[in-house]
Amino acid sequence: MIRDANTLNALLDTVNRLVRERLVPAEALVAEADEIPADIVQAMKDMGLFGLTVPEAYGGLDLTMEEEVMVMLAMGQTSPCFRSLFGTTVGIGSLGIVFDGSEEQKAKYLPRLATGELIASFALTEPDAGSDAASLRTTAILDGDAYVVNGTKRYITNSPEAGLFTLMARTNPADKGAGGVSAFIVEANTPGITIGKIDKKMGQRGAHTADVIFENCRVPVSQLMGGREGLGFKTAMKVLEKGRIHIAAICVGVAERMLRDALNYAMERKQFGQPIAEFQLVQAMLADSQAELYAARCMVIDAAQKRDQGLNVATEASCCKLFASEMCGRVADRAVQIFGGAGYLSEYGIERFYRDVRLFRLYEGTSQIQQIVIARNMVKDARR
Ligand SMILES: Cc1cc2nc3c(=O)[nH]c(=O)nc-3n(C[C@H](O)[C@H](O)[C@H](O)COP(=O)(O)OP(=O)(O)OC[C@H]3O[C@@H](n4cnc5c(N)ncnc54)[C@H](O)[C@@H]3O)c2cc1C
Repeated sequence: MIRDANTLNALLDTVNRLVRERLVPAEALVAEADEIPADIVQAMKDMGLFGLTVPEAYGGLDLTMEEEVMVMLAMGQTSPCFRSLFGTTVGIGSLGIVFDGSEEQKAKYLPRLATGELIASFALTEPDAGSDAASLRTTAILDGDAYVVNGTKRYITNSPEAGLFTLMARTNPADKGAGGVSAFIVEANTPGITIGKIDKKMGQRGAHTADVIFENCRVPVSQLMGGREGLGFKTAMKVLEKGRIHIAAICVGVAERMLRDALNYAMERKQFGQPIAEFQLVQAMLADSQAELYAARCMVIDAAQKRDQGLNVATEASCCKLFASEMCGRVADRAVQIFGGAGYLSEYGIERFYRDVRLFRLYEGTSQIQQIVIARNMVKDARR
């Protein structure tokens, strides 16, 4: 649902200008330095990008899913690390508070998240609990006025920058499944939290992940999400479901950028006396990419519109994440092929995108996990 086309277009114009004038020129530098310059971070904060999904009452823009998708399609036109910096805050980092936080928790944290004063990370994955997130082992045991948290969270995006963690921990060790898990809002400066070394990754340099280690960390009872135990896994799944449409939109945006770069290259590069774009075998790569991209774009917008109508989009969200992330990988591969040898050199940037987009098929639920969710829902619906 697009509430007001003029307002959205004004926002999209600003995002497009930021992408064109500030982010695209900085792509290589950010990858080299593994750091987004402070003035760019500030520009993103000033534009309200950290508050895209925060309700207006708490200082955010409160975008609908369809509007959020439009912004992500625009943000996808540059290196995905830029999106990652505010994406965890507007997505998986803060949505738990928006969905299930108490009034006091919302009032305390959402305004500071909306301005970017606080960066939020989502701490679910552990060394031994990835796809099987419900088996997480981090414990939060009630002791007087606090929960004592012990455990290690792995690959936590933006944890070195985070001011706040949405933490999933087991409050009921007797329940080894999802029902024993609760969500907490943990301030990063709480004693007992250590951030590990920044991980060396295949791509998306500039976006940081690290372990977050909790050792006898006393988290005040007031930080239990919504004041209720045992609902943490449900909160995490709600957050991830919305995040899947968000990630799928970014996949479409980045694929558009890679295909545009490949098309421009194919029209300029000459072999056998003509632009390589004239060769039908190259055209097949361009055409397949364009067709798949169009399909993914339609899927993402459809799922977003259905979610805005209040429909259950659990299956659609997984279909979008599965198809768009796999499509993005195929487009990246074809783009490198179209660039030929130049596609393998860092100078042209396409190999960087090839590495960057590999992550989309892995995090926020791997492609296999999306397949499982889709098929499980199909069987469930058929049995009704
Ligand atoms: C750069 C990066 C950033 C991340 N950011 C965050 C973050 O901010 N917060 C957070 O909590 N997590 C984060 N993650 C973790 C990410 O969500 C997990 O890596 C992902 O869910 C997969 O878990 P795993 O790595 O343990 O793989 P595993 O679960 O060990 O999976 C390994 C392989 O087995 C397959 N597999 C597993 N189970 C099944 C099954 N039942 N059927 C078929 N195949 C299966 C998987 O699909 C995969 O191919 C991040 C990861 C990375 C790499």
